[in-house]
Amino acid sequence: MQIQPDDLHSDFEVVLQNREPQTRSTWLMRQAGERLGIPDDELQALIAPEQVKIFRIPCRILGKVVNLNGCIGLHNSARGPYKGGIRLAPDVNIWETTELSRLMTLKCAACDVEFGGGKTGIRLDMAEMYKLFDIKPRDLAFEKTVSIAVIERYAQLFSDLFSSHQYIPAPDMGTGPDEMAMIYGETWDPASVTGKGDGVPGWLPGRKESTGIGCSYMTRRVLTEVVGVDLEKATVAIQGFGNVGRPLAVDLAEHGVKITGIIDIFGGTYNADGLNIDDLMDHFADTATVKDFAGGEAIDNDSLFRLGVDCLIPAAAGDVINEKVASEIQAKAVVEAANMPTTIEGMEVLTERGIAVGPDILANAGGVIASMMEYSASLSATKPDKSEVYEVVQRKIGDNFDRANERAREEGIGLTAATVETAVERVRQVMKDRRML
Ligand code: NAD
Repeated sequence: MQIQPDDLHSDFEVVLQNREPQTRSTWLMRQAGERLGIPDDELQALIAPEQVKIFRIPCRILGKVVNLNGCIGLHNSARGPYKGGIRLAPDVNIWETTELSRLMTLKCAACDVEFGGGKTGIRLDMAEMYKLFDIKPRDLAFEKTVSIAVIERYAQLFSDLFSSHQYIPAPDMGTGPDEMAMIYGETWDPASVTGKGDGVPGWLPGRKESTGIGCSYMTRRVLTEVVGVDLEKATVAIQGFGNVGRPLAVDLAEHGVKITGIIDIFGGTYNADGLNIDDLMDHFADTATVKDFAGGEAIDNDSLFRLGVDCLIPAAAGDVINEKVASEIQAKAVVEAANMPTTIEGMEVLTERGIAVGPDILANAGGVIASMMEYSASLSATKPDKSEVYEVVQRKIGDNFDRANERAREEGIGLTAATVETAVERVRQVMKDRRML
């Protein structure tokens, strides 16, 4: 089917002969645009990506050449360099990468960080790799050999983009500090990449925990100011005990919040009196899961999402709160620690049911705020300490949470809609100032 450009579809879609599916952020931006009276042509320029680079990476791995496909979504550069992680996963596609790059534009604007939005998706199916090399899963050393080989070639291909600070990558699913070190190894520029491991030039103390710390702060603000409960009396349930979930749980517990349920991909644990998070961390250190924790009883995902807690925190994956789940949630508020954990239909149901939502673009912005500090420290060869990093993370989330709360009250809209309005206004203003609009 030949697609013709219409008022809100881009030439880029026409080139691809394919229309971008409706996504959560385009839906939110269109609604914000309508409320703010933004003309369609300007809204189109805000929604559509500036560039999408599609590439093939031939990698030599253990003597074989493996061809992988990927793309870099460079969504918007009005407010600064394109910023966003590198995802290695079997199911990435152009539209998902584009949507995630758009989410980064909104997130950086929502928490007032001087970056634009970018993202890389490289399609890598580890199960296929095991078959191709006739290796028995799970072999972590093999997986690392593969991911390092892929990122080494990727860094060689796009080193100009990183060295010129047009696009500054970071880790996402399937990548971490080891892979970021390969990018530094190619560019020799500490400011060309963030999420670098401890000791790699330009690394930032507290970067690893910053998303969880920011999310804990936002959750505490939602509990006290939106739900209206004292922290010592508040109860929380968390899906996910990874890079975000662990520091989030530790920090909430340190502030007296009772966490009654936590689940990961292997299983969950529940204790009506509150889980002992120190003991749970010890259990996790031994078993790499929260399953079978002696200090709680087993719980599954469906039951965790139906717990009558003050706040439910999805901190694992996207699209976990759909229409059905949203209609069954008993929590008074949801704080989105994961990226886009609530579908459009799920958001509509939560709004109808009057369940407050702390949006992802503020709740998990701690990572990109710390990345801003890592970038800045790398440029100036200085190093803030952990407490300074956490202070900036909390201040930026706090200031913008205040703004969103006020706007939501004044306009009679939810926190998500209010946050997106502010983000869209900030990007639009700079695009106008820079004659990009
Ligand atoms: P991670 O891989 O370290 O941890 C993910 C956790 O979720 C693990 O405990 C895993 O077992 C669990 N999980 C996965 N699928 C699950 C399922 N179906 N049911 C129950 N548990 C499941 O990932 P992370 O870095 O903690 O990221 C979590 C989310 O936060 C993702 O959506 C990510 O995009 C988002 N995010 C992360 C950061 C960051 O700094 N790490 C920043 C912004 C957003």
